[in-house]
Amino acid sequence: MSNQEQSPEIVECPPSSHGEVTLAPRLVKLTPRSNISIRRTLPHRDIRMIGAWCFLDHYGPTNQANAMSVAAHPHTGLQTVSWLFSGEIEHRDSLGSIQVINPGELNLMTSGVGIAHSELSLNEEVDLHGVQLWIVLPDSDRDMSPIFAHHNDLPVFEFGPAIVRLMIGELLDHKSSAKVYSKLVGAEIGFRHKGTLQLPLNKEFEYGILIDSGEVTLNGVIVPPGSLHYLPQGKKVLGVASLGASRMMLLGGEPFKEEIVMWWNFIGRTHDEIVAMREEWQNQSTKFPAFADRLGGRIPAPAMPNVRLAPRTNRQINW
Ligand code: MN
Repeated sequence: MSNQEQSPEIVECPPSSHGEVTLAPRLVKLTPRSNISIRRTLPHRDIRMIGAWCFLDHYGPTNQANAMSVAAHPHTGLQTVSWLFSGEIEHRDSLGSIQVINPGELNLMTSGVGIAHSELSLNEEVDLHGVQLWIVLPDSDRDMSPIFAHHNDLPVFEFGPAIVRLMIGELLDHKSSAKVYSKLVGAEIGFRHKGTLQLPLNKEFEYGILIDSGEVTLNGVIVPPGSLHYLPQGKKVLGVASLGASRMMLLGGEPFKEEIVMWWNFIGRTHDEIVAMREEWQNQSTKFPAFADRLGGRIPAPAMPNVRLAPRTNRQINW
């Protein structure tokens, strides 16, 4: 997925110190071609990141033709996580990867120093519905060579009235084989019917729970679909009550200590680094090799803002 905002917000991510809070999404247009809206809950004005999770788009269900048509665009300094509840998307990238993803599977693209990719929804008989996330790479790993991985054998298990699909990290004695570079967890939790559960948490982690569907309370708080409920470090358990069938995404991780600069589809550490990344994409440098896909073309980077990307200024930008 590419950030399609005309004036992408500059995001500085200082360590957060918040209590438990529910974050409402804001609506963002997914692509100029497809015109569907997505609900973005990270980065949020109040909570920039949860662990190393720094971007969360939630979209669909939609039966619109070409719902996902995102032409070639670059990434740096991050991992992209694609996860579907329904539908089918073809991923292609500058490593030569061509991979269709289906519900319950994980496409994990590690940009490292740089990669370009495109995404196209395929099966118009089925609604497109899912989430797209980004994970910041720590400084020690962000200059690595890019890697693309597809996982279709992730742990799926029952926990009380729920079915858990573990995308990333460890949960309830299960472990995902997906490679990440900081301490993280990501899982889909689906209630088949009314019920409650007490989910043990890692006290070192902060968490966010995105409600996809259903009537759900988290630690006694009603959290509407589309919203992300944040839990700070130190909680031992999450109480979930579902009035019927429901689905949610659990995200967590150790608070990410490094300050980052996130602009458009790039993550760096300084203004000048972002400028250089942008120029390399615009100039079609060898960092971002061309590749063939059914969409054709490439998405140009927006113009840089007329300010240096610095923390004080960034926090004043209003979205
Ligand atoms: Mn992308």
